[in-house]
Amino acid sequence: MFYTIEETVEALKSGKTTSEDLVRSSIDTFEKDKKSEKPLNAFLEVYSDVLEKAKLADEEIASAKKSGTVEKLFEQKPLLGVPFAVKDNISVKGKSLTCSSKILEGYRAPYNATVVARLLNAGAIPFGRCNQDEFAMGSSTEYSIYGPTRNPINRDYVSGGSSGGSTAAVAANQALFGLGTETGGSVRLPASYCGVYGLKPTYGVLSRWGVVAYGSSLDQVGIIGHSPKDIALPLSLMSGVDFYDDTSADLPNCDKLKNLEAIDVSKLKIAVPKQFEQAKGMDADVAKVFADVKEWFVSKGAKIEIVDLPVLDASIASYYVIALSEAASNLSRFDGIRYGNRIDNEKGYDQLYIDTRSNGFGPEVKRRIIIGNYVLSEQFSGETYKKGMSVRARIQREVASLFENYDLILCPTCPTASFKLGSKVDDPLEMYLSDLFTTFVNLARIPSISVPAGFTSKENKNASCMPVGIQFAGKMFDELKILQTAQAWEEDHKGCGIPVQEQVQN
Ligand code: GLN
Repeated sequence: MFYTIEETVEALKSGKTTSEDLVRSSIDTFEKDKKSEKPLNAFLEVYSDVLEKAKLADEEIASAKKSGTVEKLFEQKPLLGVPFAVKDNISVKGKSLTCSSKILEGYRAPYNATVVARLLNAGAIPFGRCNQDEFAMGSSTEYSIYGPTRNPINRDYVSGGSSGGSTAAVAANQALFGLGTETGGSVRLPASYCGVYGLKPTYGVLSRWGVVAYGSSLDQVGIIGHSPKDIALPLSLMSGVDFYDDTSADLPNCDKLKNLEAIDVSKLKIAVPKQFEQAKGMDADVAKVFADVKEWFVSKGAKIEIVDLPVLDASIASYYVIALSEAASNLSRFDGIRYGNRIDNEKGYDQLYIDTRSNGFGPEVKRRIIIGNYVLSEQFSGETYKKGMSVRARIQREVASLFENYDLILCPTCPTASFKLGSKVDDPLEMYLSDLFTTFVNLARIPSISVPAGFTSKENKNASCMPVGIQFAGKMFDELKILQTAQAWEEDHKGCGIPVQEQVQN
């Protein structure tokens, strides 16, 4: 397996490798890993037709070589023969789709999600289905019926969630890029914990058709990769209006995304919200990495200013009110009649619903359905929900007006690095606080990328030498700017957030 899509495509074109080789090596790693003492558990299954698909891609490449049309072929299919990872809540026709939940075990997707269909058109190969928190609810990929996904950097630690499977698969080099989903940080958070890039695009840029809903006004497919280019290319190929999703929208500058170049950092004006600078519970090593990133921007000539946005302190509360209300409503379809494994003890419909849902959902999903329904209940005439919505509207307004004066918002992705498996599963509130810096992005519908920015120190008692991610957030539809900035960062830090000069020295 090569490290980036660019390298892989070059190797496929030159004959240095074949798609079959790539897929076989990933299958071998997957099989070996399954038998290891602490399995990663990133992939739940490798799709049965991957070898067949890889061989077909190789045949196409071989015949284009004969006719001297390889370049043209890759212009039409820029990801030909490239394997990618798919989260278990994104439909791949004919394949299992369970959201890592018992209620959907055995369900097969009847059609392709638009994002998958568009990647197939570009020649990419869906390699396998990846683990996640049940129905994408969580921050560690521990709430899954299949057991947790471990962190490839240190297997005693969580991969982060909810897209932990796709992220660990990329970080462990088992796939070249991955698809995850975001409602409140589920791509950026695991990207930060596993030391890779993770993008949450502007709401609507990637179609939600074929993606199982959690909080529909917040949900968005996200992309995980080893480099900004590995995210920009698939993004450009998947984005754009989709007939099946009325909230879908076109992304400007797709051509520039296909040939991503670094931005001139000296021209950037950057806002750092005071609320995220001084957040309670922020690990000292995360603060140190954040300070280093700010220093890098300043050394490149960018202007950084601290801004005061008090409403951000309410983002996590507003997020959980809105996300859980929408979740309670979305998940009502899993009733054993419309969707979900039915348990019918022939005691009538009410009991059928109760038995199906009591047996099918895990404790975290149940907790959220209860909170969501409580928030929406008549007793409160929607007061809490309305308050959550008005906080959201303010966040949207204030964040949008910030971008009239600034190019980017800079903040840590998470208050801490990854944590030990099992250390937060019984403390939901503590788990929810992992999303302290990510949810405002989903509420404001803006794009944001988590870049691998450094590591915690060796002496850190909670997480020694674990990756730390920092976010570059941009205004709506300005994916190009945050990806170009990430590219500038990548060129100086090659993959791991450590300055290139220091990498050579060590
Ligand atoms: N951790 C957040 C939650 O549990 C975000 C999840 C997500 O983005 N899917 O709601």
